[in-house]
Amino acid sequence: MLRAVAVTTTTAAREAQLAHRAWPVAAAAMGRLMSTAAILAADMKDDEGRISVEAHGDGPLGRVVAEVSPQGAMRARVQHPDVELPLRPDGKLAVGQAVGVDGFFRVMRQDAFGDWYQGQVELQTGEIGDDFLHYLMQSEQVPSAVSLGVLVGQEGLVIGSGGVMVQALPGCPRELVDETAARFGGLTQISRRLADGETLENLIRMVLPEPVHWHPQESLQWSCWCDRERIADMLRTLPDSDLEDLISDGGAEVTCHFCRTAYQFNVSDIESFRRSGADH
Ligand SMILES: [Zn+2]
Repeated sequence: MLRAVAVTTTTAAREAQLAHRAWPVAAAAMGRLMSTAAILAADMKDDEGRISVEAHGDGPLGRVVAEVSPQGAMRARVQHPDVELPLRPDGKLAVGQAVGVDGFFRVMRQDAFGDWYQGQVELQTGEIGDDFLHYLMQSEQVPSAVSLGVLVGQEGLVIGSGGVMVQALPGCPRELVDETAARFGGLTQISRRLADGETLENLIRMVLPEPVHWHPQESLQWSCWCDRERIADMLRTLPDSDLEDLISDGGAEVTCHFCRTAYQFNVSDIESFRRSGADH
């Protein structure tokens, strides 16, 4: 009758924050988007490809992206990680203001053949949770509730990050929907609960009435799947004139936008990428 997914992304969100040297509000936006991608990954089949979620509004953060691979690797990026905004009057990080509105929230899924399918809605508040909920209602048309949160500690680092989604499946009686909605309303401060060591199982128990049928937990970790060969392939597509420029610069350094790993290519590497070089 009901389906619920709970995720914790605390460690991955902190790794993302450290990789991007992100200020708290930027880290919170990445963390909430990583939780969104993790929730969507719960119904990903083994042979499916990646899930990529993007929020791009008119706020100072610019583009924010989070991705999950079929092996449970997760990565994220934010265009402008060094954004600082005052806390909201309720003491929360101003994620909505940082992401902005007048933009889109997009979910891309890759199937087993490598083809991408995307669904997109307009940003509602930029808080990510509201936007994800709007996406679920519009694109998937399933009655849902979503709560996402990221808590930043005294040192400015992420200490709690996660989320819960609950959906009413077709045929779920009205009373059960109402009861679950009331229970869900009591599930406040998810990031604080996770920071204090609350288990995902307990979060689900707070939302779903008994009996609950459990699916196995799956683990996710911060890990980027960029590699030197893929970046070399990209350099090979550059026109010879651009490659000549890189040679006269003495080489090239290409930095991955997701994990900030810097790949070095020296002059002889780049000479081998020239199309004319293939003839030698
Ligand atoms: Zn990378």
